[in-house]
Amino acid sequence: MTGFVIVGTDTDAGKTAFSACLLARRASKGWCYWKPVETGESDTEKIRRLVPGATVFDPLARFAEPVAPMLAAKREGRPMPGVDAILAAIPKTDQPLLIETFGGPLSPLIDGVLQLELIRAFNLPVILVASSAVGAVGRTLAAARALEDVEITAVVLMGPPDSFAVEQLQRHLPGVEIVSQSMPTAWTPDGIGAVAIDWHPRAPLRELSDAPQRETVWHPYTPLRGADDPLPVVSAEREFLTLADGRRIIDGISSWWTILHGHREPAIMQAIRDATRRLDHVIFAGATHPDAEQLAEHLLGAMPWPAGGRVFYSDNGSTAVEVALKMAYQFHCHRGEPGRTLFIGFENGYHGDTFGAMSVGRDPLFFGRFEPLLFRAMQVKLDANHLDQMLAKHGHETAAVILEPLVQGAGGMRMHSPRELAGIAEVCRRHAVPLIADEVMTGFGRTGSLFAFQQANIAPEFVCLSKGITGGVLPLAATLAAPEIVRAFDTADRSRTFFHGHSFTANPIACAAAVASWKRLATGRGKQDTDRIEAFWRARLKHPRLRTSGLIAAIELELPGGYLAEAGTAMRRAALEEGVLLRPLGNVLYAMPPFCTSNESLERISVAMERAVAVAMRSSGAV
Ligand code: PMP
Repeated sequence: MTGFVIVGTDTDAGKTAFSACLLARRASKGWCYWKPVETGESDTEKIRRLVPGATVFDPLARFAEPVAPMLAAKREGRPMPGVDAILAAIPKTDQPLLIETFGGPLSPLIDGVLQLELIRAFNLPVILVASSAVGAVGRTLAAARALEDVEITAVVLMGPPDSFAVEQLQRHLPGVEIVSQSMPTAWTPDGIGAVAIDWHPRAPLRELSDAPQRETVWHPYTPLRGADDPLPVVSAEREFLTLADGRRIIDGISSWWTILHGHREPAIMQAIRDATRRLDHVIFAGATHPDAEQLAEHLLGAMPWPAGGRVFYSDNGSTAVEVALKMAYQFHCHRGEPGRTLFIGFENGYHGDTFGAMSVGRDPLFFGRFEPLLFRAMQVKLDANHLDQMLAKHGHETAAVILEPLVQGAGGMRMHSPRELAGIAEVCRRHAVPLIADEVMTGFGRTGSLFAFQQANIAPEFVCLSKGITGGVLPLAATLAAPEIVRAFDTADRSRTFFHGHSFTANPIACAAAVASWKRLATGRGKQDTDRIEAFWRARLKHPRLRTSGLIAAIELELPGGYLAEAGTAMRRAALEEGVLLRPLGNVLYAMPPFCTSNESLERISVAMERAVAVAMRSSGAV
């Protein structure tokens, strides 16, 4: 879809007159008009009368009383369409479409939802229409503020030209074209033709059908040949991704387990905008900034440790793990035990793709090729007794045990109970071996508690965090070290410094996003949503091999081929056909949507999962 959204600063700004003027000049080029919701005198009919040659689509909803649509709908006892209904009703046309909105950007659409959400969801450039009468500058800038995260391509001042207003708006809205358009003196086709300026909105009509070129980019975990074309994603909102062809699909996997509350969560977007007005980036060795300090306080406040813990920032899950591994080893060196060079991970564990993380994850398919380059680490069965036996033998040479608490993500959403986790932590404690909780995936509420380890009432020596830390919006990671670890580094001996750091350590904008995400979590709404979503999965997905933990629902299918099972691709395609993005882990089909996902979307995900299971079973010959 291409076109523009016509938004007024408020009611009677002159949107319909402007639309008529623009269409009068463009109708012969095929431009079309649609006003999805109208009240009182019909603007749709007015446009039909004023621009006879234009293609004008019928509104989705028309209400007789000239009041706010929501109110008119209520008085007439009819439903007012919401964002999804309006998006679904967008006329199918290849031609540029002018979509006229009602009222102003902050006019209510339906209960609790402002028209702004609809404007954002159209994902088209906006032309902001304002009356040039006294107060034009303030009115326009107030509306532009409300439209801050929307692309405003032009402001049109309707009425007598006002050079002061034009100059002021140019000053305050850099990059936005400011246009003056007189009002017609006669509401006839000739009257419109007489005043309509010959103006073409400057923003290029976005060619949304342009798929990204796969040949230039090397995509992660994707063979260079034979893979499905990448999905061209042009925008996102809540649980939805919009594709170049205008389709809106549900992000059933929170974009690789990053997005927490929902895409473009307003409070986080606002925090990022605010942060960009303060500080872009600063070296973090020998400098600090308020957001990093505040975030560290929040994180440490949630740890089961006495005072004295520290937060070491980096920028992705793998580096959070690398930091923990290096710190754990150096901790033993400071205590005079440099021989502790062994790390212990668990079968099916995954901790990232850098060399340290690969060493402790050691998945034969992903990392087998690099085996000659990996350092000493063992993978043991995820079982306290087994670990006990291993530590009885190797405890004296072990630097740390690392695990993903409650859910092993990449290994196939394998789950263990808080009791099993408590048992493992107790074994580590008894053998005096530090425990690294890799909460990169499970952290920030995904399993129903803020951190998964909390459900087992344990106190790991290290906690690795990333992905959801910023609400999933920007790259950031944190390795939290317990006080007894920190104490071993607490010396003026410079040779005992932890020599590690990344250019973007504690990026201020990412930290600001993380603080905003933390505040959003503190409201408890995420927890309510997680409980709702988990209850939904349990009630709705009746598969005998279903396992759930918080937001996560996984179904393990008995299929040949493991991670590379052809069925994985078939399942992904089948889900996409149902409008849902899923990315099975081999024969494990799972969903992990963001908190905001509506029950309607959960139902669509469930349907997609059922369809994917059916397709996989059929393609493998299992049924
Ligand atoms: N640890 C766990 C538990 C993970 O799930 C992941 C990523 N899926 C990582 C570490 C690595 O994180 P990143 O991809 O950000 O390097």
